[in-house]
Amino acid sequence: MVKKICGIGAGYVGGPTMAVIALKCPSIEVAVVDISHSRISAWNSDKLPIYEPGLEQVIQQCRGKNLHFSTDVEKHVYEADIIFVNVNTPTKTSGLGAGKAADLTYWETAARVIADVSRSNKIVVEKSTVPVRTAEVIEKILVHNSNGKIKYQILSNPEFLSEGTAMQDLLNPDRVLLGGNDSLEGQEAIQKLKDIYAHWVPQDRIITTNLWSAELSKLADNAFLAQRISSINAMSALCEATGADVSQVSCVLSKNTKLGSKYLNASVGFGGSCFQKDILNLVYICESNGLFEVANYWKEVVKVNDYQKSRFVKKVVTSMFNTVSGKKIAVLGFSFKKDTSDTRKTPAIDVCKGLLADNACLSIYDPRVSEEQIRRDLSTNESHWDHSIQAKSTSFTSAKQVSVFADVYEATKDAHGICVLTEWDEFKTIDYRKVFDSMVKPAFVFDGRNVLDVDKLREIGFIAYSIGKPLNQ
Ligand code: NAD
Repeated sequence: MVKKICGIGAGYVGGPTMAVIALKCPSIEVAVVDISHSRISAWNSDKLPIYEPGLEQVIQQCRGKNLHFSTDVEKHVYEADIIFVNVNTPTKTSGLGAGKAADLTYWETAARVIADVSRSNKIVVEKSTVPVRTAEVIEKILVHNSNGKIKYQILSNPEFLSEGTAMQDLLNPDRVLLGGNDSLEGQEAIQKLKDIYAHWVPQDRIITTNLWSAELSKLADNAFLAQRISSINAMSALCEATGADVSQVSCVLSKNTKLGSKYLNASVGFGGSCFQKDILNLVYICESNGLFEVANYWKEVVKVNDYQKSRFVKKVVTSMFNTVSGKKIAVLGFSFKKDTSDTRKTPAIDVCKGLLADNACLSIYDPRVSEEQIRRDLSTNESHWDHSIQAKSTSFTSAKQVSVFADVYEATKDAHGICVLTEWDEFKTIDYRKVFDSMVKPAFVFDGRNVLDVDKLREIGFIAYSIGKPLNQ
């Protein structure tokens, strides 16, 4: 019987995932551990380190009962029957495979701690997204660093939640994927994990595969979703060139039952910590296996995404009389999607840097992202662009070029243009008449998420642009 679970890594995945296990399995003690003291103290406070609709209620219900957040990694690993490893697996920034391969440093450290402190058999679960065949390496670390008496079963249980709907996705998942080896012990370990999920997930949604299929399926899943976004974004550029309307095209595609409607909205580009890193990781794995054509195929998905961001910046600059120098541009939304405070790889970073490179003055408003976070994101040198309008990130030195507002009307006051970069629902109900009256004329709106009623905006007097639509509808 599983009595104790430890989740290593209390981030966007570890926090919500472990909280839902605690909620659904009240007889199991769940400890979520992290090396970051600030993150753990935030999980133990009223101000959680991440925003997800519905998360706070679950934390309040379980925290202090069977859900605990701690920095004592060793203690909780030692006590656990099952250890979920939810640590970050970012793209390597230097050395072999830099810019593509997954950096497994955090995973390796976690595995070494498990090996060091374990005194009983453990099931170790890969929750993080990892390259295919990672379990093989982890097993070596565990076995070679233990005294030989401890048995480890490594399972792959990749997480499919989307930020912004994490709690919904976890409480009612469309599938749970469990990968393990064929041995009796491997199958027993799978059964233990199945028994946990069976508390709330219907049997027919639990898929079991071998380890390598499970590891690769997660990378494939993200690559396919990102590919759909890049495909419709590529169509949006063609729509603008030909007078077709991307919303009409995507409506037609969505009615094709073979395609469905999800991930078909044209936008300024995808963001988030996973899509780009997981595709680049896939590219690296393909290249490592000598599959260069396949690697190139997936590379294009990232290239089109970069192109979409630079295309948007170019549209803003060219529409505003070929320069935004000294002009105030109100940026509405900074997180990579609505209902999350996460800004990792948000398209807003590259778009803002592109506008700053043309010397725009930005006034930024996001309902959930702090000023500190926005300033931190805009002061990094990171950029993957290789297209015509490149963000010269180092050129952004003046803090005066960026103001962050807590009120949308303040942010848009005296602005020459507005760029909508996140699809927050509240942007649909802004009083655009009031906004228009307070702006410099002609007043421009660039809807990077196709969420606004551009016809209404044009009636008010705005010059309005939305992705993939004819300019003068
Ligand atoms: P995150 O950066 O928010 O959280 C990772 C946490 O792990 C951090 O708090 C970090 O301090 C902690 N950590 C790192 N090394 C540690 C160690 N040795 N011991 C204890 N704690 C350690 O990352 P995330 O967004 O939660 O993603 C985690 C993994 O899940 C990644 O592999 C990611 O690809 C995958 N994933 C993410 C999402 C998503 O939407 N964010 C969805 C599915 C899968």
